[in-house]
Amino acid sequence: MIKKVNNKTIKLIKFYNFINYNLIYNNEAINRYKRDDLEITGGKLEKLQKLKKSISFIKNCMLKKNATNIVFADGNPEAKIMIVGEGPGSNEDKEGVPFVGRAGALLDKMLDSISLDRKTVYITNVVNYRPPENRRPTEDEIKRYLPYLKKHIEIINPKILVLCGSTAMTALVGNEKVISKMRGKWIEKNIGACKASLIVTFHPAFLIRQPAQKKMAWIDLKMIRDKKKKLNI
Ligand code: URA
Repeated sequence: MIKKVNNKTIKLIKFYNFINYNLIYNNEAINRYKRDDLEITGGKLEKLQKLKKSISFIKNCMLKKNATNIVFADGNPEAKIMIVGEGPGSNEDKEGVPFVGRAGALLDKMLDSISLDRKTVYITNVVNYRPPENRRPTEDEIKRYLPYLKKHIEIINPKILVLCGSTAMTALVGNEKVISKMRGKWIEKNIGACKASLIVTFHPAFLIRQPAQKKMAWIDLKMIRDKKKKLNI
């Protein structure tokens, strides 16, 4: 049956066009977290300050609402080795510095075993506010902070990128494979303008719970030490 297009229908069509019906009622999800527009200019330290400020402006974020401090980074911004953890715990939340609790103490030991420390590496996390009850960041939270993390990596421009744990792995290489299959392999990765050799390893907090896995982490650490030598950094 052909419906007669009357004035009322024409007005309705005009109205829908006017309110951009396609945009509003489109079935496709709008990715509100896509921030390819994160344009940050200036010198390295200025860029880092601007990035930190733009993270502190995040709105309607459960993590931020429950946290005491933003936990942005620690270490040397000129370092060629960058480490990415999961997210702040309660000590980090209090101090506003990543990896200062038990996991941090183990991370420091691991770094020391290959002659590295916080003066020779740069450290950040996938999310910059503490997840309540030390839970893992959700997929949505990871997605939300990812553009900031990518920009952070681009600004630091490391030659070696160490992802500690499955949250960092999920954020930057995906979770098609489990961490035990992904760790201990070099992946050449472009993140914006940064070209880095990336390696996934176990998170220090996991190693505290599963000390038997430390021998695998030691293999990864030796790979990092050798790569550093090879790249002359
Ligand atoms: N675990 C992390 O992943 N990051 C921290 O900063 C502390 C613990």
